[in-house]
Amino acid sequence: MRHFAIVGSGPAGFYTAEALAKDYGENARIDIIDRYAVPYGLIRFGVAPDHQSLKAVAKRYDKVAESDNVRLVGNVTVGSDVGIEELAAIYDAVILAIGAPHDRKLGIPGEDLPGVVGSAGFVGWYNGHPDFAHLDPPLDGTHAAVIGNGNVALDCARILSKTRDEFQGSDIVGHAFDALDRAATRTVTIFGRRGPHQIAMTPKELGELGHLQAASPIVDPADFPPLEADEALEPGQRKSITILREFAATAPDPAKPKQMIFDFFAKPLRIEGEGRAERVIVERTRLDDGGRAVGTGETYEVPASLVVSAIGYSTPPMPGVAYDEAHGHFLNDHGQISDQLYCVGWARRGPTGTIGTNRPDGYEVAAQVKAAMPPGSDGGKAGGEALDAMLRERGVEATSFDDWRAIERAEEAQARPGSPREKFVRPDEWLKVLGRPG
Ligand code: NAP
Repeated sequence: MRHFAIVGSGPAGFYTAEALAKDYGENARIDIIDRYAVPYGLIRFGVAPDHQSLKAVAKRYDKVAESDNVRLVGNVTVGSDVGIEELAAIYDAVILAIGAPHDRKLGIPGEDLPGVVGSAGFVGWYNGHPDFAHLDPPLDGTHAAVIGNGNVALDCARILSKTRDEFQGSDIVGHAFDALDRAATRTVTIFGRRGPHQIAMTPKELGELGHLQAASPIVDPADFPPLEADEALEPGQRKSITILREFAATAPDPAKPKQMIFDFFAKPLRIEGEGRAERVIVERTRLDDGGRAVGTGETYEVPASLVVSAIGYSTPPMPGVAYDEAHGHFLNDHGQISDQLYCVGWARRGPTGTIGTNRPDGYEVAAQVKAAMPPGSDGGKAGGEALDAMLRERGVEATSFDDWRAIERAEEAQARPGSPREKFVRPDEWLKVLGRPG
């Protein structure tokens, strides 16, 4: 028998559990440990609430959690309730699937002013992440800005631009739904430090902007290289640029009161304001021979009382675990950190790719584990029983997959019309549903 602990119940954790469960069958017990009683990490807290089809993948994870050899151990924080070394002593392998929840810093003056928020916080706020439920982003101004040209920047700009009706069918959390409905936002400027050819946005997500009820996407035709240059792009990127060119060729719809302005070749230098963000000072850039953005010296200011920085994420270091400072994830060789310690997903390779990218990633790490400790072998570890005893002794109330199902039913029961659920956002609310004091 082999015992495995996977830390983190997001996509990477679940795909790894799925692979291990298949490979080992009855010869392994797999515990997926999460600090929260609600599983699925990025699916619940990261994927945009108006992208419900992407969230449907959770059904596949449900099946994994229902397998006889897999357990969900919720409400347990690795690092405080139980240490990594303690897990390594009772499990054959520990696999860190903790994602990349920290914002990369802009490193510019004014970044700490009220009104400047990282995308982790902003996305967490509208998705009901307990750490950000009280973020209360300022939505009283007419101008907002989003820094970055990736899909997260697009998510943030779209959420800021949608109407109440357009959230029909989404699971946006109630406090954000109400606040966005009252918001004064009329203009969202999206800053890209490079040009249209260098965006990290994907065609489907960009295409959505052409169909917003109240907002027109605005792109400056002068930002594009000659049309022939698009031929050198890979097909997905070419599609994205074609969509941007269409936006550039279309006049803003006068019936739509909001604007989403793509400001390319625009590098934020600092954020200014009297005690809160009021404007972004931006330097015009051009591309050097290596495709990097270099400042031209020309600067201008753009008003913004809310600035969302969406420039990528990093994995927090953990004491005693090798860490790659330059790339912001654990130092690993094909997922292996040390003898019994592995990492997977964004904690392994950084915050790139789609949810599906984590599947081959999880399967590859499971294959590494399998090579090191073949199915049928025995490591003599106590696994989950020892964890349960440790948690009992420490007064930690672990929750199960059945507990999650009870929370899910309660969230579905209190959903507003047309929404799949109304999320409870605080851990004590989750435990209250379960009749536990917490
Ligand atoms: P990302 O795709 O890496 O994009 C980060 C963006 O930030 C890039 O445009 C980058 O520009 C810019 N940037 C970095 N440092 C900057 C700085 N100091 N100043 C200004 N701009 C800066 O990251 P992400 O948007 O956080 O997305 C993470 C992953 O999740 C991606 O793989 C994304 O596709 C995925 N995702 C997918 C979906 C979806 O499929 N619907 C939704 C959300 C996220 P440079 O290129 O110039 O560095």
